[in-house]
Amino acid sequence: MIIIMLGAPGTGKGTIAGILTKELGIPQVSTGDIFRKNIKEQTELGKLAETFISKGQLVPDDVTIGIVESRLEDPDVQEGIILDGFPRTVRQAEELDKILEKKGKKVDLVINLTTPEDELIERIVNRRICSNQECKTVYNLVLNPPKKEGICDVCGSPLIQRKDDTEETVKERFKTYTEQTRPLIEYYEKKGNLYSTLVSKTINKLGQDVAKDVIKYIKENNI
Ligand code: ADP
Ligand code: ZN
Repeated sequence: MIIIMLGAPGTGKGTIAGILTKELGIPQVSTGDIFRKNIKEQTELGKLAETFISKGQLVPDDVTIGIVESRLEDPDVQEGIILDGFPRTVRQAEELDKILEKKGKKVDLVINLTTPEDELIERIVNRRICSNQECKTVYNLVLNPPKKEGICDVCGSPLIQRKDDTEETVKERFKTYTEQTRPLIEYYEKKGNLYSTLVSKTINKLGQDVAKDVIKYIKENNI
């Protein structure tokens, strides 16, 4: 099963993908995480990616598509994958379709998350993430704070704030989303595999609730 998480920064793609991974038993692959790991290790890819990520821009398509294409060859994703943060441009989506077609596969479900922009900014600037790459649990200082300040409840590692989670960079990321990623909603709508949902405290529906709804939807529709 091939699932795509679509949505503006901070809508909860990673959180929901993390729950779905556990429930469905298929790996989550986040292009943002791949870039951050490479930045931390200061690889050539990391150095290149950092120049774009720090400005709230997208890493060039050719680079990103190449990474996903080779990841799709790995044995652990042959039964399924949850793509978190990819595709993010129409070109990436078209290339993904071509890559999958060659393998006799297709995108089964696209989960499109929406949240009011003021709520997103609040969510992102208060976001803290477990620094342990194996854990990566996401906290929110207001909505979902850790029991002990600065420490992950799950594994005890220190929590960190992403460098691009500042108000200034977030504005740029929203602009990038609107211009380059939002057209994907129409792209997948036409293909008929789009599941859109609001993730917002105003309707009392956050990541965990959406993940439950999605699992129900997958079962009911035999996806
Ligand atoms: P968010 O959705 O909260 O912005 P991500 O971790 O998905 O966070 O992405 C962080 C950054 O990594 C993006 O702002 C972008 O610069 C880069 N990135 C992630 N995925 C892609 C992609 N598919 N194409 C190009 N750049 C990407
Ligand atoms: Zn942790």
